Amino acid sequence: MSPLKTVFLDIDNTLYSASTKVSAAMGQKIHEYFVGMGLDHDEASTLHHQYYTSYGLALRGLIRHHSVDPLDFDAKCDQALPLEDLIKPTPHLRKLLEDMNREKVRIWALTNAYRFHAQRVLKILQVDDLLDGVIFCDYEEPNFACKPDAEYYHRALVKAQVSDPSDCYFVDDSGINVKAARALGWGHVVHFCERGLVHVEGGKAKEIAQTESLEGIDVIEDLEELRKVWPEKRSMISCDRCVLPFTAMDYKPQYQQPFSLAEVRLLDVQTIAEEISRLQNSLQRLHETQTLLKEALISEPDPELSKALEENETVIGSQTERISILKLALTEKGIATSGHYDEVVHKSEDTPAVQRIVAPQPVPDEDGVDL
Ligand SMILES: [Mg+2]
Repeated sequence: MSPLKTVFLDIDNTLYSASTKVSAAMGQKIHEYFVGMGLDHDEASTLHHQYYTSYGLALRGLIRHHSVDPLDFDAKCDQALPLEDLIKPTPHLRKLLEDMNREKVRIWALTNAYRFHAQRVLKILQVDDLLDGVIFCDYEEPNFACKPDAEYYHRALVKAQVSDPSDCYFVDDSGINVKAARALGWGHVVHFCERGLVHVEGGKAKEIAQTESLEGIDVIEDLEELRKVWPEKRSMISCDRCVLPFTAMDYKPQYQQPFSLAEVRLLDVQTIAEEISRLQNSLQRLHETQTLLKEALISEPDPELSKALEENETVIGSQTERISILKLALTEKGIATSGHYDEVVHKSEDTPAVQRIVAPQPVPDEDGVDL
């Protein structure tokens, strides 16, 4: 019988999207911590970025050069984040984890945060009960390790009782972290890369981009693509190691959708790419509206606005799920991991419009509440 495989999932900006802007809020809290030590804003920004770049975490620089208490830092930075306002549970993430074949795989989180932040995020996302354990940075330990230190990955293997790193499945939004895992022989490494979105690293806002193509590392833009990417690895490993991480290969939507994955498979690439772009634009407008609604509700409670906020969350969930279905179909056509959807649309501008086999039909929740 094959040994159990282990799936390691990064948490921040992987189990939730960078579009939530948690990294910006985190960057701001850390900046305030530096300023609280008596630095002016320029010095704080410079040191913050320098420590992040040199030590992987600003906190490690703060401990080394300023004898900062990591638990004080955690209380004032990670634990002070308004996470409940920024991230919401998504049924498709829970479904993805539920669909993993638990007779064959165990699921661990692998994060550079401390235990409190990790547990809080997993609880908000409502997936904490689906994990076998969490590997976190132990702030209580002097000179604690973190990704991408080789020591951190080795410890993760020991803690999760993995004897062969080629048995590991790992997904992380950091190119440096996935590269380090791959260099250590981790078997099925995936870079979650939400190209075009902005996130904050070391206090600096940066557009997410795939820096280089790395051998043995798959690149995805949606966690749903794991359903396709990981089973495809079967050909790379010997038969007695074959494992299907997922029990279900088809997609069972949580929301009412105007098409099924089977129907989308019949569409041409151009049509699918256009529909993804349209939905992404719609989602961007909805997120902007939600920000305005939240700001308005802070100054004055209003039942109508609260209802609009709630209804928009459902629309966002539905449209996000719809994009997942479309992306999954693109991945099956060999598109998603080799190029960006915008390029697909752009390249096809000179060609005649293609007749849609199944035209996506509007559903009642299509547009949400706009301001
Ligand atoms: Mg991350």
